[in-house]
Amino acid sequence: MGALAYLARRFVAGENMADALIAVHALNSKGVAASLDLLGEDVSSKEDALIAQKAYLELLHQINAKNAKSNVSLKLTQMGLDVDEEFCYATVKAIVEEAGSYKNFVRLDMEGSAYTARTISMFMRLFKDHKNVGAVLQAYLHRSENDAKALAAIKAPVRVCKGAYKESSSIAFMSMNDIRNSYKSMVQILIEGGSKVAIATHDEKLITWALDWTQDNHIPKDQFEFQFLYGLKRSRAKDLASQGYQVRTYIPFGTHWMPYFFRRLRERKENVFFVLKGLFED
Ligand SMILES: Cc1cc2nc3c(=O)[nH]c(=O)nc-3n(C[C@H](O)[C@H](O)[C@H](O)COP(=O)(O)OP(=O)(O)OC[C@H]3O[C@@H](n4cnc5c(N)ncnc54)[C@H](O)[C@@H]3O)c2cc1C
Repeated sequence: MGALAYLARRFVAGENMADALIAVHALNSKGVAASLDLLGEDVSSKEDALIAQKAYLELLHQINAKNAKSNVSLKLTQMGLDVDEEFCYATVKAIVEEAGSYKNFVRLDMEGSAYTARTISMFMRLFKDHKNVGAVLQAYLHRSENDAKALAAIKAPVRVCKGAYKESSSIAFMSMNDIRNSYKSMVQILIEGGSKVAIATHDEKLITWALDWTQDNHIPKDQFEFQFLYGLKRSRAKDLASQGYQVRTYIPFGTHWMPYFFRRLRERKENVFFVLKGLFED
């Protein structure tokens, strides 16, 4: 293993499925569910997309066989969105159907803004016939509040995150205050519309707000869950689970860890610090 790959282990569970399933079981034993993400994006051939599809089908099989409490998350560009949209639809549909046969769930991660509209319309198309598929919205985008309204209207399951890509101020909020306000309003719109919402953030201000708002409004604990990224907020995840909240950790694994790892490092100087220090407990 190279030095960078070693450092990336802070955020990536390993290079293969067996490593990933060990990480899932460790979390499950603390009452925390998982969402497994086979790392990969920007695939430029149908062959590569089909390799990723095959791996996801095997992953769903393994999750079921090992009785692991985990769903899966995937990126449409890994399934050929840039190659051929119809092909991508068929590729993802087969994964969603396989997941359905195991009563499992597939989350379509949200990528950079060049993909927002296509990802939402692909989600809508899949969700019409398959209720075991979920979307993601990014609070930093100006458009997301309207998207939240559209998804709430069909009670779609939605993960709300701040957004991890570099976007321009013409389409995205730049101040943390605006992003947090957008985040809160999207969570409210979605929960009030009857969607199951995944509150995906490490931001303690937003987590505390969500705990207070859901309590004050008597929102049942099964209408939302907290989600964290692997390697972050481990004690918070355990604590929330022990208080009866649904908690899920997003676990990336695989050999294509580089773009994911650098997104995490870019995000916060603390992440660089954690990695360099090898400080594995939070
Ligand atoms: C489960 C999950 C799924 C995601 N899926 C997507 C997706 O599909 N598409 C997408 O664009 N983005 C996704 N993201 C990433 C997300 O958009 C943000 O880029 C990322 O979560 C950072 O924002 P934040 O809200 O967590 O907190 P930040 O804005 O990074 O930080 C806010 C506060 O959190 C605390 N904090 C942050 N990092 C650390 C740390 N390492 N250690 C300790 N405290 C810390 C600090 O107190 C900080 O002030 C996902 C995130 C999660 C948790």
